[in-house]
Formats: sequence, structure tokens, C-alpha cells
Amino acid sequence: MELSPRDPATALPKGIAPMSRRWVAILRGESTLAFPQRAGRRLFGLMPSAARCKFCNAPFKGRYAGTLSAVGYTPSRKNPDICARCIEHAPEGGAIVPVTVLFADVRGYTALCEQLGPDEVAELVQHFYETSSKALLAQEGLLGQIAGDEVEGLFVPGLAGPNYRRKAIEAARSLVRAVRYNETSAGSLEVGIGVASGEEFVGNVGGGGYKDFAAVGDVTNIAARLTASARNGQIVVDEETYTAVERAFPDATRKDLELKGKSAPVVAYWIPP
Ligand SMILES: [Zn+2]
Repeated sequence: MELSPRDPATALPKGIAPMSRRWVAILRGESTLAFPQRAGRRLFGLMPSAARCKFCNAPFKGRYAGTLSAVGYTPSRKNPDICARCIEHAPEGGAIVPVTVLFADVRGYTALCEQLGPDEVAELVQHFYETSSKALLAQEGLLGQIAGDEVEGLFVPGLAGPNYRRKAIEAARSLVRAVRYNETSAGSLEVGIGVASGEEFVGNVGGGGYKDFAAVGDVTNIAARLTASARNGQIVVDEETYTAVERAFPDATRKDLELKGKSAPVVAYWIPP
């Protein structure tokens, strides 16, 4: 799917509702919320609670929380600091926004599945999901798609703030360390991580009665390809991500990579875990 950030009106993939101002406000973190949303935020703000949705302000605790959770204001599966109404229950659609996409991929998964019993594989995968979700959420990431041997984290300014690229790198580093050192009885896991940044479509993508929150486009594709180039415990990032964290990691290794499906080589950096 090719998406051009220059012409968002015509570049939206088929079957996706037009960009809504609500999605732009949520994901970019710009307060261009329409009046009903601003009013809703204020109303929720008047209800006393320590824990509330970072997007719409709905309280998760306190005397109004029960009533609100009955209509969908429960913590999202994608990030417990946001309510499900703001993410997975939101209408289809989204916006072209700045985003950092991170993939963490288990190395040698097929071989592992062959060597271990089904129980042990389940235990390892469970452990991998738990450890990696913790690392991503601690840096205010959103959990993207989950496959058998891979997790995805999305970092948008609307949630992670202006340093969203730096937060993605911190999440990658703690993920590598946590997965490596928290060994289960079934054995240890090795992961490779790829990270890319840029503008692409983020929102609820779906059709035929199914939708899920996702980032689609070139940034996601590059992140996936960089992940494939990362060996055990390595973090490989694209130039746009590296520029944002260069001062913190001046000794990263730079290499030109030929990536599948890319006409020109892509500059990549290996960041020390
Ligand atoms: Zn909300």
C-alpha cells in the first residue's frame, strides 16, 4: 500500500474513512479538538479521579467510573492510560501523523518451536508478550499488531510527547535487556529490533466487521525490513529516528542497507542496547 504524506486527501487507502479532526488531535497531540470533545474533556475533568484517559480525560476510578465503563470508558488493550472508546471502539478512520514504529522479533522461533514442547512454547511466548508490553507501555507506546513471534509498538506525539522517537529507543533498549535477562524455566529468548520514524497513516483500519488500530505505510515497511536485519539483541534504526537520538548515542554504527522492495539503499544505525 503506497501512501503519500504530501497529498493525504487522495492518498488514503481504499475503505478508510476520511481523516477526522478528532484523530489528528489525538495522535498529534494538537489541541484542535472540536467543541463537543473539548466540553467532554472538561466535564470528565470535574469528576475526581487520579487515573483517567490521557486523550478524553474520562476517569477510570471514582464514583462515576462504573457508569462510564459500562459505555466503553475502560482502559484500552493498546495502552491502559487511554480508554477503549478513544482507540479500539473509535470509528474507522485515522490520520497521517508523525509516528515511530518498533518491531521486536524473536530469533530462531521456528527452531525453538521444534525443540520445545507446546507448553514450553506457550510459556515462552507469554513471557515475551508480557515483558515486551511492559517495556513499550513504560515509554508511553501503543501496542500494535501481535503475531506469534513478533510485537509492534507505536509511538505518537499525542501520547508519548515531542520526544516520542527517543522513547521508542528507550523502550527498545529495555525490551532487549528484559527479554534477555528474565529467563523462564523453558529457556531464554533472543530478539532483534527494528525502528523507523516518519509520517504515515495511523488509525482504525478494517472492513467486513473487523477493525484494528494500526499504522500502515512506508514507515511500517521500513521498520519491518530493519527488524529482519537485526541479529540477536541488536537495535537497528533508520536515519530519521537516529537524528532525533544522535546526541545520546554518538557511537552508533552506520551502514547502508539494501532493503527488499526499496530502489535505493537505506541508511541504518545500530544503537547499543
Ligand atoms: Zn478516552
